[in-house]
Amino acid sequence: MAALTGAGRYFDGRTARPVPVSLRLEAGRLAVSGPDLRRDWNGLDLRAEDARPPLMRVGPADTPERVEFSDEALAAALEALCPDLHVGPAGQGGTLTVALWSMAAGITLLGLAAFGVPVLADAIAPLVPAAVEERIGALVEDQIGSLLGNPPACAAPEGRAALDRLVAQLRGDLPPGLRVSVRRSRTDANALTLPGGRVMVLSKLLDEARSPDEFAGVLAHEFGHVAARDPTRSLIRSSGIAYLLGYLVGDVAGSAVIVALGENVLSAGYSREAERAADAYAVAAVTRAGGDAATLATILERIAADRDESLAFLRSHPFTRERAAAIRSRAAPPAADRPPLLDTPSWAALRAICATNPPG
Ligand SMILES: [Zn+2]
Repeated sequence: MAALTGAGRYFDGRTARPVPVSLRLEAGRLAVSGPDLRRDWNGLDLRAEDARPPLMRVGPADTPERVEFSDEALAAALEALCPDLHVGPAGQGGTLTVALWSMAAGITLLGLAAFGVPVLADAIAPLVPAAVEERIGALVEDQIGSLLGNPPACAAPEGRAALDRLVAQLRGDLPPGLRVSVRRSRTDANALTLPGGRVMVLSKLLDEARSPDEFAGVLAHEFGHVAARDPTRSLIRSSGIAYLLGYLVGDVAGSAVIVALGENVLSAGYSREAERAADAYAVAAVTRAGGDAATLATILERIAADRDESLAFLRSHPFTRERAAAIRSRAAPPAADRPPLLDTPSWAALRAICATNPPG
């Protein structure tokens, strides 16, 4: 097939700023070029978002980047080339996703009238398709990265391997999409759970932890939020489903919505019930792994006592004396001869996971 060319607009998925680009479809690949911008996408990876023809908006399934154009020949060639063009990121039909969401919107309005928002968030969260959560989670993670001043992601190989081992011991039957990342922070001893099973650990938390068990407790607490889909619930509750809908049906280029979602994740705390449930999940997970679950209360008390650090952490996970007492009463002491969750060198490697990054 001869090369097809056309003009279009590129969006990076984080800001609403369109960048004029030229497009070239040749040998199964879509080349996008503009000022300081070169992309070469495999046609088989491309997915189309819903847009009003002749406008077409496409991008690789695994990134938020998109290009849009109104060239009918190019659109027809892409349709012919990409069998999965209208398939959602995890195999759900794009149209089906939108239909589901339209239904959800209908239910939302009814529910809003009848019960108010919190009940509704609980009802809607389980209906959000995993692929949609995953997509929102990826964008929110980027956005939170910028809100935190783009701290480098920490990935020293030995530290990463130790973290993966700890995650494997604690994850239970959480879905395979679970992803734990560490970002450097000298000021916030915190961990955040984002939609789609993303857990972001800020490295000060590792500095603050005095044993693998303490850190495991906090990590497993976040896994409790993952299991309960609390971030999605919280987003629906405070941003309103309209944001999500607007994003999904493609009316919004992304930016405003994603900024709002990122700020929301950083500022919204969970309910006491959600915190208690996440603590119970953590105690069960750490105990199952053979760790000392009561140390979750110890590290939370230590962080809460430090006024500088407590702000960020307490905002996302309101901590109370009752929580500490509940954790201690649930936690069974570990067997005396149990192997540690991580041996000493692995724990040291995990705490140094940011060491290869430049200071930030
Ligand atoms: Zn929490």
